[in-house]
Amino acid sequence: MVSPGTESKIPAKECVLVVDDEEMNRNVLSRRLERSGFEVEVAHSGADALRKTGERAYDLVLLDQMMPGKSGSDVLRELRNQYSESVLPVIMVTAVADSGRVAEALELGANDYITKPLDFTVALARIRAQLSRKQAETARRQSDERYQLAARAANDGLWDWDLISNQVYYSTRWKSMAGLSDGEVGNSPEEWFSRVHADDVVALRAAMQQHMDGESDCFESDYRVRQKDGHYRWMTGRGSALRNSDGKLVRIAGSQSDATRRKTVDELTGLPNRLLFNERLEEALKRSRTNPESRFAVYFVDLDRFKVVNDTMGHLAGDQMLVEFANRLRSVSAGTNSLVARLGGDEFALLQEIAGGSEQAAAFGDALVGAMLPAFLPGGREFFTTTSVGIALSSEAHTSADALIRDADIAMYAAKSRGRGRWAIFDDSMRRNALDRLEIELDLRTALAKGQFVVHYQPRVDLETKRIRGFEALLRWKHPRRGLILPDEFIPVAEDTGMIREIGLWVLGEACEQMRRWQQQFPDKPWLDVAVNVSPVQLRDSALVQQVAQILNETGLEPSGLQIEITESTLLSDIEETRELLLALKALGVGLKLDDFATGYSCLRYLHRLPFDTIKIDRSFIRSLENGDVESRELVNTVLSMAQGLSLGVIAEGIESQATADLLNDMGCRFGQGFHFSAAVSVEDATALLRDKG
Ligand code: C2E
Ligand code: MG
Ligand code: MG
Repeated sequence: MVSPGTESKIPAKECVLVVDDEEMNRNVLSRRLERSGFEVEVAHSGADALRKTGERAYDLVLLDQMMPGKSGSDVLRELRNQYSESVLPVIMVTAVADSGRVAEALELGANDYITKPLDFTVALARIRAQLSRKQAETARRQSDERYQLAARAANDGLWDWDLISNQVYYSTRWKSMAGLSDGEVGNSPEEWFSRVHADDVVALRAAMQQHMDGESDCFESDYRVRQKDGHYRWMTGRGSALRNSDGKLVRIAGSQSDATRRKTVDELTGLPNRLLFNERLEEALKRSRTNPESRFAVYFVDLDRFKVVNDTMGHLAGDQMLVEFANRLRSVSAGTNSLVARLGGDEFALLQEIAGGSEQAAAFGDALVGAMLPAFLPGGREFFTTTSVGIALSSEAHTSADALIRDADIAMYAAKSRGRGRWAIFDDSMRRNALDRLEIELDLRTALAKGQFVVHYQPRVDLETKRIRGFEALLRWKHPRRGLILPDEFIPVAEDTGMIREIGLWVLGEACEQMRRWQQQFPDKPWLDVAVNVSPVQLRDSALVQQVAQILNETGLEPSGLQIEITESTLLSDIEETRELLLALKALGVGLKLDDFATGYSCLRYLHRLPFDTIKIDRSFIRSLENGDVESRELVNTVLSMAQGLSLGVIAEGIESQATADLLNDMGCRFGQGFHFSAAVSVEDATALLRDKG
């Protein structure tokens, strides 16, 4: 018995596959081959042979030409589709004097042939000849690979520092990595360190010292080396120290390889990374300091709602999305003298020379925003999103790359808070806004206790009869110093900090109470209902159902008088969990509306699995409808007919003109809301509306 442990030490025998339909031929041949030291397997037909070669690797195949079913030639043809003559040698076994078939076999890629009846000695010689040729081929390939490795290694510069004499040997390649020739570099350590970027030299020396002090197994450090032309390239230095028999350090030697690509290119998108972007930006700043004519803009580009894709469809889909995004950035900026970079995550930036000032920057901002509107296909699914762009124009006030990037970043946030899918050019008031956000966060903590929130109500109108059918409750914050603040400015902050849970409950209570009052005030309108927006943060809390039930109970509002609005994109996070929660809310008897429909997945697949009764078409589509956009019209039509198929109600948001109201009505949309009818107004004004237009 050979144990598995020792088996591997015996040199592997070469394995031959004998293919013959006649049992006797197979037996005789395999016995003799085995006796000659081969491992042999047999196949009784062409199909059998193909199956076996698919299962393991053979060193050689002896293939009978004449077989029923798949002939030897058929098998050979298929084998050659997969294996070259040097990888799997095939020797054909043919009948004597059938020169036609011999020729055919050789043409098909047989390495050799032998004739029947077999002369075993000849056969053996031919088999061995093929096998040794194969071996030589393999050895040559391996040595090629070794050679390539060596060649790559030679691309590294070498250095060898004699610590006793304090002289360094630099190889020719090392010198050429700094754009220098042999004569231009001496032997002192300073030849190296003086060329290293001021920001990197301390770390380089420290890494080397650490290794010499025995604190690291080998020395390794990344640093920039100044080229003869003044530019810098990234290098990785590696090395190890040598001690003499007394343990005294005598030498440290190693290699240096060019790491510019690794250090400055974003692996996923192939774009320059933050490091390179900063470098180029610093250079541009320097240029504009000496030449005020040289002006440029920094664009900070952010993919809105990228997190939704990443969190719900997985990182692979997220990566695909980023790659596509990068490609679109490349193509819009082609020919514009721009550097496109990925700063990290879903943040991209462009550095662009502009002669035309803010007008040119604005036009390019439009181009950027427009380029991202067509659907993306992460994970093979259509996904629509928008892009927010912040623009900072170079000025004398900018003293560092960081300051410019920060301004562009602040402008990007301003673009986002103005409703995303747009650009904004930085101005000083925005910096104030960034500070404002901090202030908002602080003030928000006490706003509820101080009674600074109010709920305003926007009517929902029957487009046919023009009468009010209900209201949407929209939260406002009466800030003592800043006046009325709209939810887009503080809801995100409340969500980030979790305060939205408490605030959201307050809105629910307030709206239900008010609706109950209206129903009592207007007994002829028992159908009135109120829609309340619920944040995804609230949806993640399973106590919500109980809380809603309690509010209905306490206010005495019929469940049918309450509608809960949930924004489409929030549903994706965990559809099963969301579904449970929605079903529980539904079971209470409250209505469920899908808000901002068509801004996210618009995906029927999950829509029909979730218990919504109404969808609200996002106002961006209604806006494009007003502009006569044909695609939006088609989309609205599609949504309407789809909703009909699923027995869902439809509400159009953001109607701003009579013409749009009429158009929607003609298209078969029953309900709408928008400034054309009324903005969200105070309880008193809403009551007056009910009296006049109810
Ligand atoms: P939403 O639920 O889609 O609300 C509709 C928004 O569109 C409201 O903005 C409304 O004033 C605005 N709007 C209505 N008609 C028109 C129109 O004809 N043209 C235009 N341009 N806009 C119109 P608002 O009140 O600023 O609310 C913004 C978002 O804040 C809401 O979007 C909702 O998602 C959120 N929100 C509002 N109140 C609450 C709340 O109490 N809780 C939570 N979680 N979110 C809320
Ligand atoms: Mg809403
Ligand atoms: Mg909406």
